[in-house]
Formats: sequence, structure tokens, C-alpha cells
Amino acid sequence: MFSHLTTSIQYLKGIGPKRAKSFEKSGIKTIEDLLFYFPRCYEDRSEVIPLDKVIPGNVVTVEGEVFRVGGRRAMRRGMDVLEVVLGDDTKQVTAVWFNQPYLRHYFLLGKKVLLHGKAEIYKERLQIVSPEFEMIDEGEEFQEVDKIVPRYTLPQGYSQRGFRKIVKIVLDKHIPQVEEVLPFNIRSKHRLLNIAQSLLNIHFPQSHDLRKEAFRRLSFEEFFIYQVPLVLRKLKRKEKAGIAFKIEDAFLDAFIRTLAFELTFSQKMVLTEIKHDMSLSKPMQRLLQGDVGSGKTIVATLASLVAVSNGFQVAFMVPTEILANQHFEKLSEFFKMLSHKVTPHSFATGQAMSKGHKSKIELALLTGSITKEKRKKIYKEIATGEIDIVIGTHAVIQEGVNFKNLGLIVIDEQHKFGVSQRTLLTKKGISPDILIMTATPIPRTLAMTLYGDLDISLIRELPPGRKKIETLLYNLSERSGAYDFVKKQVLEGRQVYIVYPIIEESETLELSSAKKMFKEFSEEIFKEFKVGLLHGRVKKEEQELTMRLFRDGKLDILVATTILEVGIDVPNATVMMIEHADRFGLSQLHQMRGRVGRGAHASFCLLVSDAETEEAQARLGAFVKETDGFKIAEEDLKLRGPGEFFGDRQHGLVQLKIANPLTQMHLLKAAREEAIKLIETDPKLLDRNHQELRRQLYMRFPEFEKFLEVA
Ligand code: ADP
Ligand code: MG
Repeated sequence: MFSHLTTSIQYLKGIGPKRAKSFEKSGIKTIEDLLFYFPRCYEDRSEVIPLDKVIPGNVVTVEGEVFRVGGRRAMRRGMDVLEVVLGDDTKQVTAVWFNQPYLRHYFLLGKKVLLHGKAEIYKERLQIVSPEFEMIDEGEEFQEVDKIVPRYTLPQGYSQRGFRKIVKIVLDKHIPQVEEVLPFNIRSKHRLLNIAQSLLNIHFPQSHDLRKEAFRRLSFEEFFIYQVPLVLRKLKRKEKAGIAFKIEDAFLDAFIRTLAFELTFSQKMVLTEIKHDMSLSKPMQRLLQGDVGSGKTIVATLASLVAVSNGFQVAFMVPTEILANQHFEKLSEFFKMLSHKVTPHSFATGQAMSKGHKSKIELALLTGSITKEKRKKIYKEIATGEIDIVIGTHAVIQEGVNFKNLGLIVIDEQHKFGVSQRTLLTKKGISPDILIMTATPIPRTLAMTLYGDLDISLIRELPPGRKKIETLLYNLSERSGAYDFVKKQVLEGRQVYIVYPIIEESETLELSSAKKMFKEFSEEIFKEFKVGLLHGRVKKEEQELTMRLFRDGKLDILVATTILEVGIDVPNATVMMIEHADRFGLSQLHQMRGRVGRGAHASFCLLVSDAETEEAQARLGAFVKETDGFKIAEEDLKLRGPGEFFGDRQHGLVQLKIANPLTQMHLLKAAREEAIKLIETDPKLLDRNHQELRRQLYMRFPEFEKFLEVA
């Protein structure tokens, strides 16, 4: 049967439907997927050494003749042991396998074999346990030992050897069918290998240099494919007409004077940038980065005020109900002053104002848990324009929500949303301005390329007077010390968060859970205090209630999961205790730490961890000392790599498989520049040479079409 690149892997010889399932779990569905399933690392076996040169402890490749094949059952452990003694002119070595008796059939006396594995001394003999091996005289075309050999993250049920074999067969057969994504001029300008050479050398490198070149070429390609949609989107947007809001500084300043605090320098700067964007007739697309607690909400509130005073509506989208509630209350509070302290000049006289003498801003809270009737009413009031600002969760992008004249979209904690959700919301207005906020700051160059379609503003400092949050590390046995600390704080009138990585006990993980500890705390350890429990599996109304109780000071201690991670702002909470702290990413820890230190009292972050690995210790140790969210994000990004760091949440974007934006910044920049050039000359990707790129974009990026739609 003739197979295309898009043919399902199950039709390959020796695979079939059952094995295809295990491939699929590794993300390999088609022949093409397999070609682009890159090795995790390599082993250099190109140097075969004589047996007497083997140093125990090293991973080595050796060659020998089979002298003896023996086996025994190690009764005590019920294991079957296969021992094969091989030798060359210098020495002997024993290869040992456990529970693979069938292997013995390979090792006929006198046969020559290559072995690869870690050498060791056992009972004064040189031995290698479970080496990979290769028959030398087999006369087969497939000799994998004497080379730089790839190692893959394996689909279940495969050995490195077996998987490699399949990759090799598929490569040999299908490489001629692979089309170029990168046009010739780009390849020649950047001295990039062609795709066939690249695929061959990424899987089975002919030399280290070629492996590096293959890696460079394939990384470039990935960056390039990743950048095209972003660039397209940015260019398309430039053509769109947006709303040119009238900025009334006197009114805004009067409002700002009613606040309980003064804006920081950074807040003023970003506000200027936002006002400028909003005043233009192009739609704003701005990403506002700022550390936890840097005061992004008030900036968004001011932008909302600009939109509303121009007679437009605002949609304010946040990732959780709790946060929606909190923002609703916060904004209501901010705007309370409006009616009696500020004369909303434009409200009374401005022509842009369509609402006559309205002097109050109507806010609505729209979440999944409000009643049907109430929702209906809100939908209606959004449609008629009675409601000025809608604050809510995903509920805001539901189908029934139709705005009269949506002028501004604010998305808080953007890392929790995907691009497609952003687009859905955009379509609810006619080219509304968009302000996206994130507390997971990433380096600017990286941000520019990852969010290549956005402009970026930055809040650099925290409001003055914030106390440094003291971070303390406890190991499990010192835990009660941490509890004593909590007690003391509660007795002083403060409140405490205690976070667990899981909700319930699990059989596979030996971790304390929020539920179990809640019971223990409320019945024993902290029974004299009021303890609450908060996690994602509790009903939304109950979550809300618990959060309200905590905010109103009616709970002393809140036991929770990372549901707390975003946005929660309770100034009287001074202790954030995180159990199994090593289970969390650094940025996540930082977000949680940012939940305290919001009021006048000294605040603390207590990390409890029994992580023994040096790596975990170093990570937590670094976290204890570092307070700057940017540095922490950078470190986290380095440690976990962009894939894990950004997670599936960026599901709208092409996932990078091989390229790393952190270590290949230059390549990313070059790829972006080429993407811009290509899109400028062929925005619809109609050129014959761009057809493979087009196909790849549609294939790898199911939301490509959506991405291009800019309302
Ligand atoms: P984040 O950037 O993490 O979203 P918030 O907007 O929730 O931070 O602000 C954190 C707290 O700081 C809030 O209670 C807010 O009212 C307060 N705040 C914001 N700006 C200032 C400022 N310039 N001075 C003092 N407090 C401020
Ligand atoms: Mg916030």
C-alpha cells in the first residue's frame, strides 16, 4: 500500500491498531508525526574501546565474541538471570539481563556482539547490566550501535531499540515525501539544512556537527511557524479601525484623587501608554505585566473609566469566580466616590456620552453560578447598554452575551486563558480595545516574541510601604514549629492561608491533602480557631461564601489548594503556609506568596517540604532569597522550560517541541523577521512556495482560522 505522510501510523508494517494506540498516547498519529517526533537525547557510541580500557562506572561501547551463555534463577527474588560472557583479545566481560530469558537465543557461541551500557565491577568481574546490544555479523542493514544513537521518550511497550528501528524504516521510506516549509531564499540566507538532511540528522546524526545543524534548522522552522500567525494577526489588526476614545484628564485626575492611595510612578507611566492607545483610532492590544500586588487592577479600572465615560461598555474577564467577586467589590468601592466626590464632567455634558445625566456606573457580576433569572436580566441589560461594566468569568464570552457597544476588554491573569478565548470576546464588539494583564512576567524580548501581536507595558515597582515578606523553609519534621507560628499570628488577630497540592488523598501520591488536613486542623491542631476549606470541587456558591467569610475576618485560617493562586486580596492575611512546597513551580509559589503582605502587618511565607533532591533544595533555597517576580519567572522558565512553564494554557499557540526561546533567542528573532517579511509580501499565503507552510499552519494549529479573525 502506498502511504502518505498523513497516513495513520497503524498501517505501517508491524504496528497495527493496538500499538497505534500507544503511539497515539505519545502524540504520534501519522507517519508525519513520527518523523517529527524528535529524540530526547543521544548517546555517542561511535567509539568502541578495547575491554581492558574500560573504566568501571563509565558508560561504554565494547565489542566481543560470545564465549559462554549461562543462566540461573536467583531464587530469593524469583528472578531469571541471563549471563553472557564475551571477550576480546584483552579481557572478558559479562553481560547480565534480568527476566528476559528469551534473549539467550541471540547469543550463539562465537558470534560477535557490540554492547553499550554502564560498566561495573561485580564480584571482581567486569560486567554490564542490561546493555543495549547489536549482532555484528548479522549482515543486516541496521547497525545502530556504532553511531551517535538517539534516545526517545518511548511510547508504552517499546524499547529504545525497537522504536528506533521503526523510526529508521519510516525515515528511509518517507523522507522524499516531506515538503519544505522554509522557502529556499530563507534557507540559503541563514545557511539552514534542507528538511531531508535535517530529519535524517536529528534522528540518526552522521556527526555531531550535522546534529547541531539539524537542530538549528528544525528550531528555526518551529519558531517560524509559530511566528507567522502572530505576525499575520498584528498586521491585520493594523488595518482595522478602532475606537478613538476622548481622554478627559481633568476628570480622570479628579477620580484618582478620591483613591485612598497615590499611584506609583509605574502605574502613571502605563496609564499614559494606555490612554495614548485608547485615544488612537486603532484598536489597542496591550499586555500589562506587573508583579503580584503591583496594582494592576486600579490601572484597568481607570482604563474602564475612560471607556465608560465615552459611552462604551467594558468586559472584564477573570479566571475564577472568587476573583470575579473580589473585582466586582473592589471596582464598586472605587466607583462609589464617583457619584458624590467627582463631578463627572463628561457624564453631564460630553457629547460622546449617550446616557444623558447618568452619574453612576452600573456594574454587573456575571459568573457561572448566578441564577438563570438573574442571568437573563443581566443579558438584557448588557444588550440595552444599561450595564456599563461586566465583570465575570468565562461566562462573559458565552453565546447569549451581546453588548450594545463594547469598547474595552480587560483580561486579568491572562496566563489562565487561551488565545481563542480572547478572540471570542473580541468578536462581541466592533474592534474594541484590549488590555491583557499578567502577574507572571517574562523577559521582555521573550514576551515580544511569544506574544508577538501585543504591545507591552510594565509596572516595575510595588506600591510604597509594602513590607518584605519573610520566607521560611521548614522540613516535615519541623512542621509543628510552623503550626505554632500560625497560632501566634492568629492570636494576634491575623489570618492565615494553608495550601496543599491536592484536594484529596490519593493512592499514588503520598501527600497530605487539603481535605484531610482541614479535618485535622479544625478538630485538633487549630480547634480553638475558625478554619475554612476552599478548593475547586466545592460548589461555586460555597466557594464564594467561604471566601467572603475569610475576607470579613470570620475565618482565621483558610485551608486551600492553588485555587488561591490568582488575585485574592485580603490585607489582614499575613501568613501563607505552603505544604509540599517542592510540588509547585517557582512562579506559582511566588503568586501564592503574593497573597500576603498586602496590609500594614509584617507577613510571612512558610514553605514546608521534605524534598531531598539537591535540585529541589536549591530551587526552594533560591526562592527564599529572591523577591523579584521577574527574576523568579525567569529562573522558573529556565528550570522547567517554556513548554511546562506556559503549560496547556497557551493552547491556542503552536507548541514548541524542539526549539527553546530562552536559549535560542537570536534564532527566534531571525525567524520572526523572516516571518514578517514573508507575510508582508504574501499576506494570504498564496505563493506556490508557501503552500507547505500554509498546510502546516492549518494542521499544527487547529485554531489558525480563528487566530486570523480579528473582529
Ligand atoms: P495585582 O497587580 O496583583 O493585581 P492589585 O491590583 O490587586 O494587584 O493591588 C494590590 C493591592 O494594592 C490592592 O489592595 C490595591 O488596592 C493596592 N494598591 C494598588 N495601587 C496602589 C498604590 N499605588 N499604592 C498603594 N496601594 C495600592
Ligand atoms: Mg490582580
